[in-house]
Parts: sequence; C-alpha cells; structure tokens
Amino acid sequence: MNIINARLRGQPSLYSLTVEQGCFSAIEPQSDTLTATPESDTISNTIDAQGNLLSAPFVEPHIHLDAVLTAGQPNWNQSGTLFEGIERWAERKPMLTAEDIEQRVLKTVQLLVENGVQYIRTHVDVTDPSLTALKTIAGLKEKLSKAVELQIVAFPQEGICSFPNGKQLMEQAVEHGADVIGGIPHFEYTREYGVESMHWVVALAKKHGLLVDVHCDEIDDEASRFLEVLATAALEQDMGERVTASHTTAMHSYNNAYCSKLFRLLKKSKINFVSCPTESIHLQGRFDTFPKRRGITRVKELREAGMNVCLAQDSIQDPWYTLGNGKLLRVLDAGLHICHMMGYRDLSTALDLITQNGAKTLQVEEQYGIEVGKPANFIILQGSDDLSVIQQQGEVLYSVRKGEVLVQREPAYLVKTATLS
Ligand SMILES: [Zn+2]
Repeated sequence: MNIINARLRGQPSLYSLTVEQGCFSAIEPQSDTLTATPESDTISNTIDAQGNLLSAPFVEPHIHLDAVLTAGQPNWNQSGTLFEGIERWAERKPMLTAEDIEQRVLKTVQLLVENGVQYIRTHVDVTDPSLTALKTIAGLKEKLSKAVELQIVAFPQEGICSFPNGKQLMEQAVEHGADVIGGIPHFEYTREYGVESMHWVVALAKKHGLLVDVHCDEIDDEASRFLEVLATAALEQDMGERVTASHTTAMHSYNNAYCSKLFRLLKKSKINFVSCPTESIHLQGRFDTFPKRRGITRVKELREAGMNVCLAQDSIQDPWYTLGNGKLLRVLDAGLHICHMMGYRDLSTALDLITQNGAKTLQVEEQYGIEVGKPANFIILQGSDDLSVIQQQGEVLYSVRKGEVLVQREPAYLVKTATLS
C-alpha cells in the first residue's frame, strides 16, 4: 500500500508513505504541491490523502461499554444529575444479559471505529457477583482485535472495601481477563476505606503485572484527597507510568497552595491523567448555586507541568449522559473551551490529547505512531494540521489498521448553495 499527498503532524511539507506487511516501510517528503499521482501499477493500492492530515489513530482511554446505549431504558434521567443516573442505572441493571451487553458493545465499538478510534480502555462494573458484563466483554476482545485493541478495567462501581466481597470480585475479574485494576476511593464509606483501597489496588496490579486506572476524586469535595494516596503508592511501588488517575475533578476545587505541593508529588510519581470534559462539565457543580464551578481537573496546568494528560468520552447515551456519538473531536473541542486552552500553542498541539497521550496512558506507545517499522495504524482527517482539523470538526476519511482499510468515507458535499458574491 502507498499513501501520497499526506500531511503529517508538525511537518510543513507533504509526504508519501509506503506500507509493507502491515508496517510502515518508508516515509518520505514529496514536493510541496499536490502533484503526486499514483504509479499506474499501484493505483488500486494507493490512498491519495489530497493534502489532508495523516495521524496516528484516536485513543479512547475511558469509556463504560457495559452501560452504553441504555439512556431512557426503562426511564429517562430527567434532572441530568449523577444521582438520578445511579437510580436509573439501578432500574436498568436487572435487565442486563450477555446478549444485551454484546449487542450494545459491538454497536458502540463499530461507532468508535468509524470515528477513527483503534484503542479503547473500557471500565466494566464488577460489583456484580455474576460478573456477567466483564465475562461478556472479555469474550469479545479477540473478535474485536482486527479493528481495535481493547483494555478492560475491573471497575468497582460500588466500592472495594464498602461492597460485600469487593476484593474477591476484583480478584475474580483478574482471573476472567481484566487488564487494568480500577478503584473508586471517594465513593467508599470512609476515608480509611478509600486509603486502604488505593494501596490494595496498586499492590494487586503489581502482583499480576497489570495496569491501574482509578476513578479518583470524581466529586466537587475539596477535601477529597485520594490522588495523593494513589500517587504515593504508585511512586513507592515503582508503578508510576503504569498508573492512571481518571477524572480528579476535586482538583478543580483544591486551594492553590495545596495543589502546588501536590504537583511536586504527581510529577515525581509519573502517573497519567484522564479527563472527561463533556461528562465533568455536565455532572459536576450540581450542588453549587451561583457561581457554579466547572468541576474539571486542571488539564492545562498538568500539561504545562510536563505531565501526561489525555481526554475521553466516559459515556455514550447511558443513564448519566444522554448524548455522545463516538466523536473524540467533539470532546476535544469542548475540553479546549472548558480548560481555557484556546491559545495558539495549545490549539496547534491539541490532537496529542486524543492520540499519543492516550497511547502513553494505555502503555501501547511501542507499537503506536507514524514511524518506519511500526504497524501501519493511522487515520486521515479533514484538515491540514491540528488547528484546521479542530476548526472544521471534519470527518475521519480513512482508518487503516496494519495496512488494511477499516473505514473509508466520502465527506458530505453541497448539492446547492446560495450565491452571496
Ligand atoms: Zn468513568
């Protein structure tokens, strides 16, 4: 396979790329005009990027595939709050079956793939003695592998220390194929349980050679400080880059003096951060009158301090979030606004937040990126660079995995328009 007339991120000229046996074998600059045309003998196997941006695939580092596409079943969340979401989910949960989960997961992964995602980390609720969702989704991993790499987090929605047999369920989830150990310390009954759960989670991951991704301090409570416990455990267990703190929305409300002290530890620990801007702006700040807090972690500040931050969707049409369409560019657009990242430097490198930073969080970097020798996994986006892709909010024109075309799209075109000049 050849790709011609492609723009690469951060590069001024056009490039031609060659793919052999599923990997990039050559990446070379071409003349800076869209003149390259495929050789006649390779025409059927050539993608003409037409000056559009060729990027490594999107990474969705935080989603709940077990809950997707259940909004309104059996009842709609009328207030839109997290707490009514939990009530609505409690009504939907008894209706969960393997078939129901499988059908929704396949539909959603299809949607994500069509929107340029090739790496997914899904949290799966394991506070269910039958572990139906976890077993079902683990069983789909192989089938999905031609299109996406799927990581499964054993996610204790109702707590580890606060839920009957919570620790045993987490251990069983590992036996059934979980790749990542989750946690929810701010939801545990007591601060002591929250602290205990963090040390236990990191130790369990270390014992089995797994990763960690904790729903950490997803609350507006400025006194919710489990992030320091998680980061310390990661540092002391030498697990830093293998550990991720998701949400950390309480950091929005921490005082700056504490945050300054905390950042020193966070930097040292080397842990990763996932922020879900559309979900957090919607679910947080609900106990505020006016002014209302944005309730999103300090994405810009973490990034400027040299830490790894990526963005995610969290939900697609579930009891907590009725919208969502698989488009990470929409989440990125919202995140840039909410986090005050509208300066040129932030905008011109913004795709990092839904591509390589996510890959670092998932620890798939070795196989990820547009480099000779790496698997030919890439997408082609409408636009010539990060800024123009975000401005256009265009479509994913191609998604290619190991040299095989997964998705090819003809963008919509105007049939008729007003003449104004
Ligand atoms: Zn989540």
